Amino acid sequence: MNSLPYARRGFHYNTYSCYLEDRFGERVQRVSLDGAFTCPNRDGTRGNGGCIYCNNLSFSPPYSAGKPGIPEQLEAGIRFLKERFGSQKFIAYFQSYSNTYAPLKKLEALYRQALDHPEIVGLAVSTRPDCLDNGVLEILKDINKDYDVNLEIGIESFSDTSLHWMNRCHDLACTLDALERAAIFGIDVSGHMILGLPTETRKQMLESAEKLNALPLKFLKLHHLQIIRDTPLAQHYAEKPFPLFTYEEYLAFVAEFIALLRPEFILQRVLSSSPDSCLIAPLWQHTTTAFVMDLQKYMRENKLYQGICREF
Ligand code: SF4
Repeated sequence: MNSLPYARRGFHYNTYSCYLEDRFGERVQRVSLDGAFTCPNRDGTRGNGGCIYCNNLSFSPPYSAGKPGIPEQLEAGIRFLKERFGSQKFIAYFQSYSNTYAPLKKLEALYRQALDHPEIVGLAVSTRPDCLDNGVLEILKDINKDYDVNLEIGIESFSDTSLHWMNRCHDLACTLDALERAAIFGIDVSGHMILGLPTETRKQMLESAEKLNALPLKFLKLHHLQIIRDTPLAQHYAEKPFPLFTYEEYLAFVAEFIALLRPEFILQRVLSSSPDSCLIAPLWQHTTTAFVMDLQKYMRENKLYQGICREF
């Protein structure tokens, strides 16, 4: 546990909240922003209909709903997060759709507009690996001189079969190329992963941990597969249901997965948390907070911590 600098307050893995606290000397929250982007997997450039699990409403916070501009969304988000958590510093988080999918001038103007807010201390940008040309990386590298920049890239799976099943409309080679180039530009990258795909065995999923260890990533977001309303996956699941993680199964699985990860990773997320109104399955009857507490307990009782399974 000594090699995990951000594993505090009962956590057996490095948490993003502890990392931000150490970095900025106080609690920092992300403000989700909608830059009115679309996605090449929706507009026909790469595909139509999007990834089979995707419904952007499931990760759009209510505080930005109906607010047209970035300044208005920032004001509303910051007000909400101040009242709820008392935070004074914030990261502008371009979250909805593919946030590098626009002309470079427009992208830079949007990012800089958010960074102009005096309480914003960093930028987070979520995107697909095939929307990341060197022009975007150059902009992010330039911003990175003055602000913390965190680029989030959807890896989702190391299997081309799974990527095809999800209708991602890109392959693993594309992901690896994007990660390699982002590293060359010196940008901190988060990798998104989906665990529990019906196209993968438990062994395959656990092997993903070792593959992640070999990549130039600083942060990780782990998601269990959820069936979200109004998605192609919801229709597929209704016609041909398949097993999803139960609460207890995922608890044990993600604990084992974390134990396989190298100790340098910082975990930004260990499960999906779509709003109840969007969620079809699995219905766990436990909150995200309860899961995180149960994970702490499970890892403590089973003497597991991030990286322990790499020590033998
Ligand atoms: S998950 Fe991301 S890449 Fe896939 S359709 Fe949705 S916005 Fe596009």
